[in-house]
Amino acid sequence: MQSVNYYSTNLKANEATFKEALLKGLAPDKGLYMPQMIPQISKELMDSFSEMPYYEIAYHVANHFLRGQIPDEELRKITKDAYNFEVPLENVMNRCYVMRLDHGPTASFKDFAARMMGRLMNYYLKLDKRKLLILTATSGDTGSAIANAFYGLDNIEVVVLYPEKEVTNRQRKQMTTLGKNVKVISLDGKFDDCQALVKQAFSDEELDYLNLSSANSINIGRLIPQIVYYFYAFAKLRNQEKDEQIVFSIPSGNFGNMMGSMLAKRMGLPIKRLIIATNSNDEFPVLMQKEEYHKIEPSKDCISSAMNVGHPSNLARLIALYGGVMNEKGNISKHPDFEQMRRDIFAISISDEQTKETIKEVYEAYNVILEPHGAVGWAGLTKFLHNHPQAPNLLCVSLETAHPAKFPEHINEILSLDPELPPSLRGIEDKKEFITSLDNNYDSFKAFLKKNYK
Ligand SMILES: *Cc1c(COP(=O)(O)O)cnc(C)c1O
Repeated sequence: MQSVNYYSTNLKANEATFKEALLKGLAPDKGLYMPQMIPQISKELMDSFSEMPYYEIAYHVANHFLRGQIPDEELRKITKDAYNFEVPLENVMNRCYVMRLDHGPTASFKDFAARMMGRLMNYYLKLDKRKLLILTATSGDTGSAIANAFYGLDNIEVVVLYPEKEVTNRQRKQMTTLGKNVKVISLDGKFDDCQALVKQAFSDEELDYLNLSSANSINIGRLIPQIVYYFYAFAKLRNQEKDEQIVFSIPSGNFGNMMGSMLAKRMGLPIKRLIIATNSNDEFPVLMQKEEYHKIEPSKDCISSAMNVGHPSNLARLIALYGGVMNEKGNISKHPDFEQMRRDIFAISISDEQTKETIKEVYEAYNVILEPHGAVGWAGLTKFLHNHPQAPNLLCVSLETAHPAKFPEHINEILSLDPELPPSLRGIEDKKEFITSLDNNYDSFKAFLKKNYK
């Protein structure tokens, strides 16, 4: 089988190998990298997934995209090391399940992508005897996911900036108690100030020697790992005797997760329908309905806060998959096949009020605790099933993208109980913190970088 190259959705950059696309992130024409052909998973291999642990399925799926780009045994090592936690499938009612993607080190589904991307990057950097410095600004969760994913990797250093007064104690400790190759800066300013300092560092030629990278969410290295759990859920839940299909409901913000499901479908996973559930940032459901795209600026502030995205960057990838072209600003120069999109996707927006009701109803009826993001997904699934009463025995999986204990205030307000912390979030209270406090100005940030990284 031939190896897969990657094209840019803006169609003005050269094709790249996986390694190039991974280390670049964004294509030079500001487009996003997409596989130029989508490999197929054979029926036999898919059948054998039922007997495999998660990390082995991850190896096989990733291997289809990385063939010729990394030795088999290296990829096996990487997937085994990245996926050392459970991926529970919890039955809720009939054949409807919640897949809990919240058992990783930061209790968010972002761990799946970030851990694998970090290890792949580290592999290539070692090979080239190079080092990379990841700079990232965070308002809480992204920073801890990145810091944890890259923690302990030899050829990668991490610097996280956070606004001193805008992160919770727990969010801060998830970053500051790591140490080793992770340095954390608390800034006397706002998230936007952190972001501005990071941007300025990226465009500062005097810092070129540091080999700066952002490890941001549009990297192709994050997309491929997000294909795996769709195959996993089907393999573990299917009835082997029957020719089954499956429905997934995906709470969506920047649409990286949904792109994973789309690629799984194109690789041969028998997905009957994908439910894309957004919060009140409904630019995508509106696009599907009216075939017109309007970003939401500024994005609306909903309780499923990781999904408050008014212009999902990964949308350009979806449009490309359906034959259209959308640039980084959101302008569509060639329409995708909207009719086919509607056959494949059921898009729906869920309000905060519906989200809270869903958390309450699911707890009362089934004794299952969802958090705001997962509840948006479940509410989307409920609406879909209501519109399709002819399919009572359909196999359905709704994704839970974070652990309820990350949102204790919301859960307590709605259910009057305190969700138990998962093991990954326990025990950080007493650990030592490593923090550097800096004034909110570029000179002190630059001096910090030059002093710590020679
Ligand atoms: C990032 C995130 C999402 C949205 O995922 P996308 O891939 O950006 O659509 C949903 N839930 C949680 C908890 C997240 O952190």
